[in-house]
Amino acid sequence: MSLTADPTAGVQGFPGRDELEELLFSMLPSGWWEAVQSSDEAALQLLKSGLHNPDIVAQLGSAGWVAPHYDVEHGGRGLSRDDARSALSLLALWEVPHVPRGSGLPLAAPTIQQWSNNETKRRLLPPLLTGTERWCQLFSEPGAGSDMASLATTAVRDGDEWVVNGQKVWTTFGHEAERAMLIARTDPAAPKHAGITYFGLDMRARGVEVRQLVNIAGQVEFNEVFLTDVRVSDCDRISPVGDGWKAAMTTLGAERHALSGVRKKRKSSDEILGGKAFPEVLRIAQQRGLTGDDRVRQVLMAAFTADRILGWTAQRARDRARSGQPVGPEGSITKISKAMTNQRLQEIAMGLLGADAIAWDAADVEANEWIVQFLRTRANSIEGGTSEIQRNIVGERVLGLPREPDPYQGVAWRDVPRS
Ligand SMILES: Cc1cc2nc3c(=O)[nH]c(=O)nc-3n(C[C@H](O)[C@H](O)[C@H](O)COP(=O)(O)OP(=O)(O)OC[C@H]3O[C@@H](n4cnc5c(N)ncnc54)[C@H](O)[C@@H]3O)c2cc1C
Repeated sequence: MSLTADPTAGVQGFPGRDELEELLFSMLPSGWWEAVQSSDEAALQLLKSGLHNPDIVAQLGSAGWVAPHYDVEHGGRGLSRDDARSALSLLALWEVPHVPRGSGLPLAAPTIQQWSNNETKRRLLPPLLTGTERWCQLFSEPGAGSDMASLATTAVRDGDEWVVNGQKVWTTFGHEAERAMLIARTDPAAPKHAGITYFGLDMRARGVEVRQLVNIAGQVEFNEVFLTDVRVSDCDRISPVGDGWKAAMTTLGAERHALSGVRKKRKSSDEILGGKAFPEVLRIAQQRGLTGDDRVRQVLMAAFTADRILGWTAQRARDRARSGQPVGPEGSITKISKAMTNQRLQEIAMGLLGADAIAWDAADVEANEWIVQFLRTRANSIEGGTSEIQRNIVGERVLGLPREPDPYQGVAWRDVPRS
């Protein structure tokens, strides 16, 4: 094993770099840095398998390195955006786990940053950044999915607290989360978008009941959540009263971004969306001697082309964001195209597997994994807002088509008929 040049040498300096490197050396097992330096994947995998990721994230979070651009009192280090980016690139190059599990960091944190007062930020952000509190999202309801603003869960003020009643559904990781992004109706007399408020709900509070659901692939991923007289402190209110819809748009914008393949924090967005990547699908064709078949070649080339175009579009969106420009139309189309290309790729894999995709040997772990991944990707065009709704957004906001008619616009939510 020969040591090569320091892979982090190109990272720009930033305040606290020595301190961060010392912390990494002290908390990671010996041999880690050498394995990274020499790109010794096998050694690194072995070391990673012995690591307890939540402990590492907790240590990095406590020292402010999970979101270094946040204020120190909110769990960050008060670094500039550029310095924070350098610090996070260093962590990525060290291949150290630094993202808390759940939707706290990608979805709740930017919403709290934008909408909450100082006290709420001080309460909610530090445990989020250390991973002590994992977050889930309580937005969808049985009668309010795409039309989320119709939600019927209520929060009624009682002194310094709010009393919440209602039912949510599809709550990913609700069975593991300690906190939730909750939107609830606080003014039934206002039109549906205006009477909503956004809270950070303690999932351990009395009156929160989580019931697990099993998805099409047989996995427990999401839940129903029943809320009965749950008390939420006003200090855990994330948005101003009545501004919950606007704050929810911050969360949903971040979610679209996370599911679009634009964000490259994780190894790939496939870790969130399920499905296998193009090289693995190509490998099936090679293993089965199918790469000489004209039809297979056409299908694979089309998938490869779509994948590359999506990658470049995502790159354009990233570059715009980095240079401080507003997100352009590419931000709206990547969510739709990521769902389409990911689903199409898994369908191609099923075609290549042929009969093995429907009658596999139960002991064949690899075949089983392909089916599970194929089934999981069916959700890509539903989760985070369906592809039809995304197309409506593109139609209205990008192409400037007339808005979808709403016969109840401006009408008090309580006067809108519900089935
Ligand atoms: C795997 C997965 C994880 C999820 N995780 C969460 C979570 O953690 N938290 C959370 O709050 N929610 C979550 N969701 C819920 C998700 O956001 C909703 O399923 C989604 O918004 C659609 O709502 P719905 O299921 O009620 O479908 P509906 O809104 O009832 O839609 C049914 C069909 O009608 C179409 N449709 C509806 N309105 C229109 C329209 N105006 N124009 C054109 N077509 C329309 C839809 O596209 C869809 O095909 C998750 C969903 C999935 C699949």
